[in-house]
Amino acid sequence: QASEVWIRLQKELPQWVEESRAQCGEGKVASYIPELAKAPHRALGIQIMNGSGASIAAGDAAIPFTMQSISKVFTLLLALMDNGEAAVFDKVGMEPTGDNFNSMLKLELVQPGIPFNPLINAGAIVISSLIAGARMEEKSDRVLQFFRKLAANDFLEVNEAVYQSEAASADLNRSMAYFLKDNGVLKGKVDEVLDVYFRHCSINVTCADLARMALVLAFDGTDPITGERHIPRRYVQIAKTFMVTCGMYNASGEFAIEVGMPAKSGVAGGILTLVPGRYGIGVVGPALNPKGNSIAGVDLLETLSQRLDWSLF
Ligand code: GLU
Repeated sequence: QASEVWIRLQKELPQWVEESRAQCGEGKVASYIPELAKAPHRALGIQIMNGSGASIAAGDAAIPFTMQSISKVFTLLLALMDNGEAAVFDKVGMEPTGDNFNSMLKLELVQPGIPFNPLINAGAIVISSLIAGARMEEKSDRVLQFFRKLAANDFLEVNEAVYQSEAASADLNRSMAYFLKDNGVLKGKVDEVLDVYFRHCSINVTCADLARMALVLAFDGTDPITGERHIPRRYVQIAKTFMVTCGMYNASGEFAIEVGMPAKSGVAGGILTLVPGRYGIGVVGPALNPKGNSIAGVDLLETLSQRLDWSLF
């Protein structure tokens, strides 16, 4: 028995996607990682999955794209499962920065020199260093296997072209990592830690993968389709709180007001979001607004939240 909302989505979602797609012209596809610049500028797609595994897709939901910063939510979860809360928050803070995702500003300014939160680059690089595994290959493999399990998709892979492109154009991330190493925050070999980070940012997904991963968060760590628990509830609570406070870069406050759903975006144009206890949602729209979020994707989520009353607040 489909709910009223579900029936409305089936009927109206394609139209809402087309309305938001009109925003694409105002946005810019990320180009600081050269390989990302190849993404289709006018693409917009969405997939919404419910707890029984039924889903509704509209627009360009099937196009592949790399997770980029969306992956940071899940490496945080894996690091929490590997090390526990105390060890993780010894090395990374819990506060939004208000600065750009790749800013180093506060690393020096604010003591004790740990990154403000795990969703900015500095924090996510520290999180990469906390993933368990004897060597870099093992860490990267554990991340990939974890993502595959959450997405219920054994075919998730690193996009080698994006990975190479990112590794070759990462001077800022490298300088940040060396700075963190000097601060005593980052342990291990800087190059290896960065490699784990570049690889998890470069994992290819579609909206369906994001929707399924988001569904696990929407159901507090259990995949509602298989009934399998993947993540302790407490860690999911932590991750979702970071998504609300820091998930949409330094537009997280505005997004909380306009949309009011836990979400994480990435520079390839993806957004992972959810309605607690109900839906996992994946969105893609590579043209970005000046804050680095999918311009049409954010517009579409504003429409959904406002028309369906999905704000948590
Ligand atoms: N891999 C990207 C970087 O480090 C992630 C950026 C993002 O999606 O915010 O620059």
